Amino acid sequence: MRQIPLPIMNTRNSPEPEVEKEAMNKEQAEIDETSCDVLVIGGGPAGATVAPLLAERGYRVVVLEKAHHPRFHIGESLLPANMPLFDRLGVGDHIRAIGMEKWGAEFVSPWHEHTQMFEFGDAWDKSQPMAYQVRRSEFDEILIRNAERKGATVFEGCKATAVDFLSNREGAVVTAERDDGETLRWRARFVVDASGRDTFLASRMQIKQRNPKHNSAAVYGHFRDVQRKAGQVEGNISIFWFDHGWFWFIPLVDGVTSVGMVTWPYHMKSRGERSLSAFLNDNIQQCPALAARMVDAVLVSDVEATGNYAYSADRTHGDNYVLLGDAYAFIDPVFSSGVLLAMQSGLLAAEAIDQCLTNPARAPAALRRFDKMMRLGPREFSWFIYRVTNPTMRDLFMGPRNILRVREALLSLLAGDIFGKTPIWPSLWMLKLIYYVSSLRHLRRSLKAWKARRDLVRAPS
Ligand SMILES: Cc1cc2nc3c(=O)[nH]c(=O)nc-3n(C[C@H](O)[C@H](O)[C@H](O)COP(=O)(O)OP(=O)(O)OC[C@H]3O[C@@H](n4cnc5c(N)ncnc54)[C@H](O)[C@@H]3O)c2cc1C
Repeated sequence: MRQIPLPIMNTRNSPEPEVEKEAMNKEQAEIDETSCDVLVIGGGPAGATVAPLLAERGYRVVVLEKAHHPRFHIGESLLPANMPLFDRLGVGDHIRAIGMEKWGAEFVSPWHEHTQMFEFGDAWDKSQPMAYQVRRSEFDEILIRNAERKGATVFEGCKATAVDFLSNREGAVVTAERDDGETLRWRARFVVDASGRDTFLASRMQIKQRNPKHNSAAVYGHFRDVQRKAGQVEGNISIFWFDHGWFWFIPLVDGVTSVGMVTWPYHMKSRGERSLSAFLNDNIQQCPALAARMVDAVLVSDVEATGNYAYSADRTHGDNYVLLGDAYAFIDPVFSSGVLLAMQSGLLAAEAIDQCLTNPARAPAALRRFDKMMRLGPREFSWFIYRVTNPTMRDLFMGPRNILRVREALLSLLAGDIFGKTPIWPSLWMLKLIYYVSSLRHLRRSLKAWKARRDLVRAPS
C-alpha cells in the first residue's frame, strides 16, 4: 500500500489555477488508487461480519485491525441466534470445529434451594436449540480469515488514528499507523466503526455516554480441573449469583473453563492491595456453590479485569458512517448478548450501506431502519439486566411458569431470538407485568432493593 497525501477539504471546492488543478488531479489520482468503498475500523465480530457481506456484493472493503489475530478477547459464550449468522457467513463448520456445545443456561442462587436450568430447545421457536462456547482468539480469527477469503483487504497491526470526513457527503479520509510506524491513508466512501470498546468515533465525536442506570466491572480467568456437569449439559453456561453480583462459568472445548465475576464498582474498590487472582479467588470462596465446583481448580491464564462498563453513543450513524457492536453500545454481559449484537449489527449495516452507496435516495430510510434495529437489542436486554440482581426477578428466574407462554418468550430472549418474526412480544410484556405486580406485592423488599441498586450504580468517588 502506497502512502498518499491527505486531500484538503477547502481546496476541493474553491477555484484553482491550472497548475494547482493539475497537481490536485494528480493527487486525486493517487488517492483513487488507494481508495476503497468501505473502510472498517476493527476486525472483531462486528467488523468481520460487515466486511465479507459487502465484499461479496462487489464493494472494495478494507479492514483495519490494530492487533494480530489470533488475539485474546473476553466474551466466550454465544447464543442460538448466532447460528444462522454463521451459516449466512459460510463459517458454520469452522465454528462447530472449535465450539463447545451449549444447550442452555443454568442459574444458581444462594437464596433458593434448587438450581434452575433453561434449555434453548424449550424456547418459542424450537428450531434453534443450541449455541457454542468458544475461545474468542480462535473464533475471531475464523471470522477475519473469512472476510479475507470473501475479498476484503485486511490490515492487521494497523491502528486507525484519524477520520476526516469530507464535505458534501463525499466520504472520509482515514489515517492509520502500522506497527512499524508507517502511516497509511485511505479515501473511503463509507466508514464503519467496529472498534469495540475503544469506541473510536464515539469518543472523538464526544457522543459516548456512560449508562446512568448500570455500572459494573469484571474480573476473570481460565481454569483447569473445574467440576463440570456430565453429558449434553456439560457445555451449558452457569450463572451464580452472590452478594456482590454474579459469576459466569463457561466450559470451553479443551477442558478449560472460563470463570468471571461481574460486580459493582464499590466492590472492586474493596480489593485493596490484593492481586487480581487473589481477589477473584477470595470472591469465589464467597459463593459456596461455585467454590464447590472449583475445589481442585488450577488457574491457567492471567487474571484480567475490565473496568466500569455500560455505555452507548448518542447516535448509531451519520450520512457516511455507522457505529457497530461495542463501538455503539455496551451492556452487561449477563445474557451473553455481546457477540450476537455485534454480528447482527454487521448484518444490518451491510444492508444499509449497500443502499447508501447504490441508491442514495433510499439512504435516509435505510439508515432509519438500521438505527431502529440497533437500538432494539440493547433496550430489550437492558430491561432484564437492570433487574437481574433484584429479588423479585430472581424469583421469576428461579421459578418460571409458562402462563401465556411467558417462559418460552423469556427463553427466546435468552436465545437472542429478538430480531426475527417470532411473536414473543405480548408474552414478554406479560412477563414484565407479572414482575411489576410481584414487586408491588413485596413492596417493602422491592423498595429496599431499588434503593440499594440506585446507590450501587453510582460510580465510586
Ligand atoms: C467481561 C466481559 C464478558 C463478556 N462476555 C460475553 C459473553 O459471554 N458472550 C458475548 O456474546 N459477549 C460477551 N461480552 C461482550 C463481547 O466481548 C463484545 O460485545 C464483542 O466482542 C463485541 O464485538 P465488536 O466486534 O463490537 O468489538 P471487539 O470484539 O472488541 O472488536 C473490536 C476490534 O477492533 C480493534 N480496534 C480497536 N480500536 C482500533 C483502531 N483504532 N484501529 C484498528 N483496530 C481497532 C480491536 O483490536 C478489536 O479486535 C463480554 C464482554 C466483557 C467485557
